[in-house]
Amino acid sequence: MASALAHHGLSLQGLAPTAPDAPWPNTYGVWCDELADLGLSHLLGHRWQNTVSYFGQAASTQATHHRRDYGLFDKHTLQQHFLDQLQTMTWHRGKAAAVTHGDDHSCVTTEAGEELQAKLIIDTTGHNAALVQRPASAHAPVAYQVAYGIVGKFSKPPVAPGQFSLMDYRAEHLSAEQLGGPPTFLYAMDLGEDVFFVEETSLALAPAMAYDTLKERLQQRLEADGVAVSEVHHTEHCLFPMNQPLPDLNQRVLGFGGAASMVHPATGYMVGAMLRRAPEVGDAIATALAHGAVGEELAKAGWQTLWTTERLRKHHIYQFGLETLMRFNHRELCQFFDSFFKLPQTKWSGFLADTLTPFELVMAMVTMFSQTTNPVRGGLMGGVGTDGQLLLKSLIGSP
Ligand SMILES: Cc1cc2nc3c(=O)[nH]c(=O)nc-3n(C[C@H](O)[C@H](O)[C@H](O)COP(=O)(O)OP(=O)(O)OC[C@H]3O[C@@H](n4cnc5c(N)ncnc54)[C@H](O)[C@@H]3O)c2cc1C
Repeated sequence: MASALAHHGLSLQGLAPTAPDAPWPNTYGVWCDELADLGLSHLLGHRWQNTVSYFGQAASTQATHHRRDYGLFDKHTLQQHFLDQLQTMTWHRGKAAAVTHGDDHSCVTTEAGEELQAKLIIDTTGHNAALVQRPASAHAPVAYQVAYGIVGKFSKPPVAPGQFSLMDYRAEHLSAEQLGGPPTFLYAMDLGEDVFFVEETSLALAPAMAYDTLKERLQQRLEADGVAVSEVHHTEHCLFPMNQPLPDLNQRVLGFGGAASMVHPATGYMVGAMLRRAPEVGDAIATALAHGAVGEELAKAGWQTLWTTERLRKHHIYQFGLETLMRFNHRELCQFFDSFFKLPQTKWSGFLADTLTPFELVMAMVTMFSQTTNPVRGGLMGGVGTDGQLLLKSLIGSP
C-alpha cells in the first residue's frame, strides 16, 4: 500500500514494531498467472507446472490436474521489491495504540506515547486491527483457517518430485472417529534439493482447529505413506480469520489487508488481491488529495475503492460458500471441490482470485450446482435456509 502511494509522490510515514527490513515470517503462495498479469513474476522463488489435488478418501484416489502454474514468493525479493520504492519514506518504531481526528488531520498515539500526525491514517496491522473499527460479528463465532507445516528433509519424497499439491484430501489413514470430525487436507510442495514443505490444513472451522490435531494428522499421514521426517528446517503455524465482519466503511481510518477484511472468505487467499488493489486505492487517495479532500471524504475515497458495491455483493456470496463448506462432511466436501475444479478454468480461477463479475460468479455457481452430486446440492439448498440472509445482502450490495 505504501509503495502504491509513493508512486504518486506523496509524503509517507510508517509506524511498525520492527525494522522495515526485518524478514517477513510467512510463506506466501499464489497462482502464477495472477502475478504475470501484474508484471511481478520475477518475485517468485519457486514455480510448479505439475499442480494437483486429490478429492477422495481412498489412498488410490486419482489426482485432479489443475493445469495451471502455482508459485511461492521469494520472501526476501518480495519485501525488497517494495522497500526499493520506499527509499524516501520516514519510519517510526513502535505500535499504534489510539487515534484522534481533527478537521483536516488525524493523530496516532503509539504505545510509548509518541504522537504522529497525517492527513490520512491507513491501518495495515493485520486481522486484529489496531485502529480500524468493525461491528460485532453477525456470524459468531468467527471461522479460522489453521495449518501446521514443516519445511525439511524426509526419508522419501512426501509428494511426487517436482509436484505441488494444493489440496490432498486422501484420508484412509484416519480412524472412523477422525473421519467423522472436521476434514483437513495436505498442502505440499517439492522445494528442490530434497527439501519439501508439507502442511496439514483446516480450511475453515469455528472455533479454530487445534494445532495439535493438525500435527497429529500430519504425522499419521506421513507414517501411513512410510515417510519419516529426517530434518526440520522450519515449522509454520498458520492461523487467521476467514469471515471477520467488514469494517465500518464510514470511518476516518482506512484499512488495507487483513485490517480491511480482504481475505477471500471461501479460500483464505489475500496476497494476489492486495497486489491488485493497492494501486487502485493509491490512485483514489492521490486523486482525492489533489482535489483537496480531507477528513472523512479522504478516507471514504479509499474505502469506496476497496469495497465497491460489486465487491460487497461477491463478498457475501463467498461468505455463503464458506458457511456451506463448513457444514459438509469429508465426502461432501470432496464432491464439492471435485465439481468446482471441473468448471472451466477461467471460472474457477476467477472465483479464487475474485475477478469475476457478480453475474459471472452466480452463473459459475449455478453451473456447478447443476453438475454436482445430490448430497452437495442438498447442502447448498440447506445453506439457503440457514444463511439466506448473506445471499440477500449480496443482492442489495450492503456491507
Ligand atoms: C502463516 C500464514 C500463511 C499464509 N499464507 C498465505 C498464502 O500463501 N497466500 C495468501 O494469499 N495468503 C496467505 N495468508 C493469509 C494472508 O495473506 C496473511 O495473513 C497476510 O500476512 C496478511 O497481511 P497483512 O499485511 O494484512 O497483515 P500481517 O502480515 O499480519 O502484517 C501486520 C503487520 O502489522 C504490524 N503490527 C501489528 N500491530 C501493530 C500496531 N499496533 N502498530 C503498528 N504495527 C502493528 C505487525 O508487526 C505486522 O508486521 C497466510 C497467513 C498466514 C498467517
